[in-house]
This record gives sequence, C-alpha cells and structure tokens, in this order.
Amino acid sequence: MLAKIICPECRTEGSFSLVEPSYQGPYRCWKCRALFTIKMETGELKTCEPLSEEDFEKQQEIESLKARFKQG
Ligand SMILES: [Zn+2]
Repeated sequence: MLAKIICPECRTEGSFSLVEPSYQGPYRCWKCRALFTIKMETGELKTCEPLSEEDFEKQQEIESLKARFKQG
C-alpha cells in the first residue's frame, strides 16, 4: 500500500510504499532531504521525529545486520 507523508520541514507531500500497514523506521523527504523517524499505523502517520544523518546510518546498519541474520 502507498502512504502519504507531509514533510514537516518543507510541507512537501511524499509517498511511501508500505509492505505492512504498520511501519516504524526512517523516512527521507525526497525534496529537502530531511530525515525523520516515522511511526505509521494502518497507513496513518502517528509520529514523526527529526533524525540526524548519524542516527540514520546507525539504523541502516542495524537493518542490514537483521537482514544478514535472516539469511543465515
Ligand atoms: Zn522536506
């Protein structure tokens, strides 16, 4: 499903494809490149918090580690 997110920084609407109706993780605005940690429930945005580039990279690392474990 496709969820819509309004960027709190620049008010640009972005769309986000969800595998499941609920999602918690990083989102990057396609226009201003601002990073956020978002939480979605049943396709609705619940929380949106600013995320630093450093924290984003950490999260990416954790995700890639998880993926490696699943393959294992
Ligand atoms: Zn933006």
